[in-house]
Amino acid sequence: MKVLKFGGTSVGKPERMHAVAQLISGADQKLVVLSAVSGTTNALVGISDLLTKKDVAGAKQAIEKLFGPYDEFVEKLYTTAEGKAKGREVIRQHNEFISAFTQEKEFGDKHTRAILAEGELISTQLFHAYLLEQGYKSVLLPALDFMRIDEDDEPMLAYTEEKLGALLKANKDAHLIVTQGYICLNPKDEVDNLKRGGSDYTASLVGAAIRAEEIQIWTDIDGMHNNDPRIVKRTFPIQELTFDEAAELAYFGAKILHPSTILPAQKYNIPVKLLNTMQPEAKGTVIANKTTEKDIKAIAAKDAITVIKIKSTRMLLAHGFLRKVFEVFEKYKTSIDMITTSEVAVSLTIDNPKHLEAIVAELKVFGTVEVEHDQTIICIVGQFVQENNQIVRRVIDSLGEIPVRMISFGGSKNNISLLVKTHYKNAAMEELNEGLFFAEAVK
Ligand code: ASP
Ligand code: MG
Repeated sequence: MKVLKFGGTSVGKPERMHAVAQLISGADQKLVVLSAVSGTTNALVGISDLLTKKDVAGAKQAIEKLFGPYDEFVEKLYTTAEGKAKGREVIRQHNEFISAFTQEKEFGDKHTRAILAEGELISTQLFHAYLLEQGYKSVLLPALDFMRIDEDDEPMLAYTEEKLGALLKANKDAHLIVTQGYICLNPKDEVDNLKRGGSDYTASLVGAAIRAEEIQIWTDIDGMHNNDPRIVKRTFPIQELTFDEAAELAYFGAKILHPSTILPAQKYNIPVKLLNTMQPEAKGTVIANKTTEKDIKAIAAKDAITVIKIKSTRMLLAHGFLRKVFEVFEKYKTSIDMITTSEVAVSLTIDNPKHLEAIVAELKVFGTVEVEHDQTIICIVGQFVQENNQIVRRVIDSLGEIPVRMISFGGSKNNISLLVKTHYKNAAMEELNEGLFFAEAVK
């Protein structure tokens, strides 16, 4: 079976839902994971924030603003009077559910999480009712019946395997199985979620749990691009990526995919395709365990990086120095993204400065410590042949005069990371794009 996930803009308008139904109408059985209608989760975050601040009047207004457009949505989505009545009833119930929180005296986190889950509950109920109206054999399986996270917020894949396996057996005859992305239960049996953008992750987890033949992530862009289209002028879709390359790109800033999505699919070697609902015939990007393409494939960037430099003459010829440094980061559960060392100094980067002060205080025992904020990691991903240094030369040549603070190469065959001041990010991305993808002469 294939798992198909449709993002917020793919279900963001009645016409888009019609197009999705068309896309999934082929004869084979499919599991369909939906996000909330675009804009809904942001609105729900807003409503919860207002309720947290005890601004009940503001929250009521925000609820009205959220649901207003859904009336027209329902009118346009369905063709029959029964369909429209069903759709109106779905909206009425969810409006009532969310509005009830305006009476809640002890509004807190668990209420926020219940509200945040509403977006996916609404989109799937509307869509499922539409499929039934149009005569499809659709079943709506509540994600809360098979998606769970543990104490560490980690999804419980074995639980999903067991529960979803049983549910699918019981629904063998359904043609389309629809479920919610993003939402799950936590160990307290409360409604929870897989963090923003988590519907991709749901699709991958569900795909892994049922050992799907393929996982398709449908968005409104024609695959993962070789560079960030918001920053760089000339970008193009990448046809193939390995799981490792895709994981690096998603982690280092490619917005199209939730960074945790790769792992479950990779574990069971299930290909992930990134496809475009606006252009369904376009090839998109295939992520699998092998690639036929060599060379540099893509560039991504991650901002808000802090670099810490520890300089110590005691490091000279001493062993155990790095261990002591790492122990400090471990103690504060702060992960390190990039690291470079010389004989007397080590520079490393973190993206979570929450415990920075305490970390710096402990590092000062080893030597002098310098901290710089507003740094960006630029990550260049591809299949690099380490026997020749063409890649490094091309990267350096492309950058021209742009100052680089750190370089990391050789950690894997797929990655070169550069650290630059965020101030130089756009220029660096543009220069690298031109130099690595368009300047034939240097290849
Ligand atoms: N609706 C959720 C969000 O906007 C999850 C998702 O769309 O993936 O973050
Ligand atoms: Mg998304």
